[in-house]
Amino acid sequence: MKQTNISVFVPHNGCPHRCTFCDQRSISGVVKAPTADEVRQTLAEQLPHLREREMTAEIAFFGGSFTGIDRAYMISLLEAASEFVKSAPDVYNGIRCSTRPDFINAGILEILERYGMTAVELGAQSMNADVLRLNERGHTPGDVERAAEMIKQRGFSLGLQMMTGLYGDKPEYCIETAKRFIELKADTVRIYPTVILEGTKLGELYKSGEYRTFTADETIDLCAQLLTMFDEAGIPVIRMGLHASREVEEKMLGGVYHPALRELAESRIFLNEMLREMRKSGGSRFIVRTDKANISKVVGQKRENKLKLEELGYSFRIEEEKGTRLKIYALQNS
Ligand code: SF4
Repeated sequence: MKQTNISVFVPHNGCPHRCTFCDQRSISGVVKAPTADEVRQTLAEQLPHLREREMTAEIAFFGGSFTGIDRAYMISLLEAASEFVKSAPDVYNGIRCSTRPDFINAGILEILERYGMTAVELGAQSMNADVLRLNERGHTPGDVERAAEMIKQRGFSLGLQMMTGLYGDKPEYCIETAKRFIELKADTVRIYPTVILEGTKLGELYKSGEYRTFTADETIDLCAQLLTMFDEAGIPVIRMGLHASREVEEKMLGGVYHPALRELAESRIFLNEMLREMRKSGGSRFIVRTDKANISKVVGQKRENKLKLEELGYSFRIEEEKGTRLKIYALQNS
């Protein structure tokens, strides 16, 4: 059975915070908050399609701060979702939400548990106190730790979300953030390189020249490192980069936004591994064996990896080998 999410976007209209990267103020009122009946309608409409495709789905309340919205409204949405988890458990196998770390407390978790919430994701963004302060998040790394521990203790799946390249950020802070996420035993992680949008504080800082985010190449390098760290810790990275949207494309001033960002990061991991092995061998011509599924990542987008290695004096040809991730053989006369 293939697993998917049925996402319900719940905007945090009237959010009291002013995070530097967020354009919630400009979309407030434009993105309509769904009613419980609209949620029911969506779930009922999706049910036969999911059954037909033999898929299971979690009902996902996204948008930022699910547990910070009006309490009665939040409960009405949870009621709608839990009805479907109870009546169609073969398809709807859970409910997840994303929220701020400082919108988690024992009372809120009790409500979520009552309605069958399975996973809670926290928008941590960074575990560096200065980065959180500079980006006016209004919470500290300690809030993330406290909320994460409470979520784990209650038995929910813990999701942690981080951003890279915020105002005041450095790649080493992102690596530290990933280390803390691993120590906090996150069950899933999402990584979002910063996209600078018109109408945000970051947008102003960017236009004034006060702020520059990481370049695309730095971001891909960093994402490759983060993916490797989480992979070694056995934590799935369930999303990398913002979903494609017209709004982002229209309002983007800078930052890193690429529909195939994860593929680029995975390809960089292959490049780094090949380079390491090739340097170690002392040769210059190689055979690279890999499964068919990896070939495009080994070669790189627009043959980037191949060209980079050639620039450094290494050439290779690929041989398909089913089930193999990467094996490198130096050719004798190289
Ligand atoms: S990102 Fe910040 S400003 Fe935007 S909705 Fe969430 S808490 Fe509010």
